[in-house]
Amino acid sequence: MYWSNYHSHCTFCDGRSSMEEFIKFAIAKGVKKYGFSSHSPLPFLTFWNMKIDDLADYQTEFYRLKQKYNSNIELFLGLEIDYIDNFFEVRNELFNTENFNYLIGSIHYLDQLPTGDFWTIDGDFSKFDIGLNLLFGGDIRLAVKRFFEVSSLMIQKGGFDIVGHFDKIALNASHYKDFDSTDNEYKNLIGETLQLIKDKALILEINTKSLNEKGFTYPNQQFFPLMKELQIPITVNSDCHYPTNIIDGFEPTFKVLKEAGFNTMHQLVRGTWQAVEFNEKGMTGF
Ligand SMILES: [Zn+2]
Ligand SMILES: [Zn+2]
Repeated sequence: MYWSNYHSHCTFCDGRSSMEEFIKFAIAKGVKKYGFSSHSPLPFLTFWNMKIDDLADYQTEFYRLKQKYNSNIELFLGLEIDYIDNFFEVRNELFNTENFNYLIGSIHYLDQLPTGDFWTIDGDFSKFDIGLNLLFGGDIRLAVKRFFEVSSLMIQKGGFDIVGHFDKIALNASHYKDFDSTDNEYKNLIGETLQLIKDKALILEINTKSLNEKGFTYPNQQFFPLMKELQIPITVNSDCHYPTNIIDGFEPTFKVLKEAGFNTMHQLVRGTWQAVEFNEKGMTGF
């Protein structure tokens, strides 16, 4: 029995410890497959994205540690790449994505604010609220619709393996009374986007980052049965920024996935993504 995690951050972006510290904790927590997915560089500076000048060191340090810990853990090098509509593609010329074992496509930014900055959908709530008013006249339903429209564009264009935190906008949207994750309009948006993931044969991440604090995963647990019905390949990730959080939320999430009928999740096995069996206590197959 073992755990795996392909979505993690370290000091090359906004993670709070070094790569090596994360590896030591991962080994101690029974993780056998572990991937780094720092926020990739962007054409503008942010507090959380890696700087383009650090990309070479990111790779050098990874391969040094991969060799050092070879007999204890299988390590993978990835990137979490932003899709920003009309501005930044997951597949882009800023860096060579072929040097990585896998890529996660994620949305953190929607449209451009009058200041020229992009509106961040998963940051601080007061900033989210300001952007919502400026871009959507305070209408959370319009913003959510736009989020899934941009998600669909990202999925259609492809160029990555894993869809990161599928419905992350729910984190801030859930503060508004007009947002109801159980209404039919919202469920239709979710259903259409999930279908597209299936059609494009992408892997859907089950992201446990907010589970302990908020009680939900991304995608929200209520959509697990639909994901099963559509036979979407999944993998569970913690999106950890602290070494102590590497397997946070895994046990309860594996249990709910089991209850929804899932028996396998995708793992990198000898260079390709394959369905591997799991139970409530972790991965059972290799
Ligand atoms: Zn992210
Ligand atoms: Zn992340």
